[in-house]
Amino acid sequence: MAYHDVPNKTIFSSHIQYLKSHYNIISIETLRESLLNDDVKLPNYSLLITFDDGYRNVLENGLPVLINNKISSCIFIITRYIDTTVNFWWKDVEVNGKVRGESSKEIRQTINALKKMTNKERIAILNKIPSTKRKQITSEELLYMKRNKMYIGSHTHNHPMLNNCSDDEIENELEVSKSLFDQWKIEGFEVFAYPNGDRTEKTDDILLKNHIKLAFLFDHRINATNISSMGISRIRTNAGMPLSELKVKASGLHSLISNLTLIRYGSI
Ligand SMILES: [Zn+2]
Repeated sequence: MAYHDVPNKTIFSSHIQYLKSHYNIISIETLRESLLNDDVKLPNYSLLITFDDGYRNVLENGLPVLINNKISSCIFIITRYIDTTVNFWWKDVEVNGKVRGESSKEIRQTINALKKMTNKERIAILNKIPSTKRKQITSEELLYMKRNKMYIGSHTHNHPMLNNCSDDEIENELEVSKSLFDQWKIEGFEVFAYPNGDRTEKTDDILLKNHIKLAFLFDHRINATNISSMGISRIRTNAGMPLSELKVKASGLHSLISNLTLIRYGSI
C-alpha cells in the first residue's frame, strides 16, 4: 500500500486496525528475504505499508499509531528536504497558484505539465516561482523513526521524473542522495521508490549500478506471486479516505476495475 501524508490520526488508526486484522503486515526485511531467496515464501495476504515523500505528519500522526500496533513500515524520503524548511516543489507550485487565485484543477494541470517536461525545463520554471516554507523531518528524527520499525528508503534527492532525466542527471540524483544517507548513518538507500512511479528501460541499469536492490512502482496493482525486485507494484491509497474505500482498495478490486478501464480506453 502506498500512502503519502497522514493528515488525520483517527482515520489512519481505523485503516491500520482493519489492515492488521485482515492481512499479514510484513516488513521490508521480510520482503527482501523472500525476493533474494527462492525458498522463503511470503505468507498469504502479505501487505507492506509505505509512505512516499517524507511528509512530517507521517512522523506526527502515523508513527504513533504504527508503534501502538507494533507494525513495521517504510518511508521513502527525498533527501534534499531533510533538515530544512524548504517546501516540496509541487507544494511551492500549489501555494503560489492559490495566492494567484487558481482553482485546484488549474494547479493540478500546472503540476502535471511540469511532470511531463524535461528535467531542465522543469527546474528552470521552478526557479522562477517564489519559494515557500514547510517544516520538514530532520535527520535526527529519521533515526528515531528507524528505531521504531519504520524503514527509511530513498526517493531521489530532488524528486525529478526519471523518465525526463538524462542518464547523468539520474546518476547525480542517486549519488547525492546516497552520500546523505551515509552522512546521517542511515542504511536503507538500497530500497527505492520511483518518483511518480516513472520507471523506464534505462532506469533499471542505472539504479542497479548505483546500489539499489529493490524498487517500488506507483502503478495501483497487486503483486503477482513472482515479484520482480526492480518493479514492485503498489496500491495507491490515501490516509484521509474513509475505511469503506480503503477496504475496496486493499482487496485489489479497485485496482482491477481501474486497470480494466484503462485497457478498455487504450490508455496503457
Ligand atoms: Zn513521490
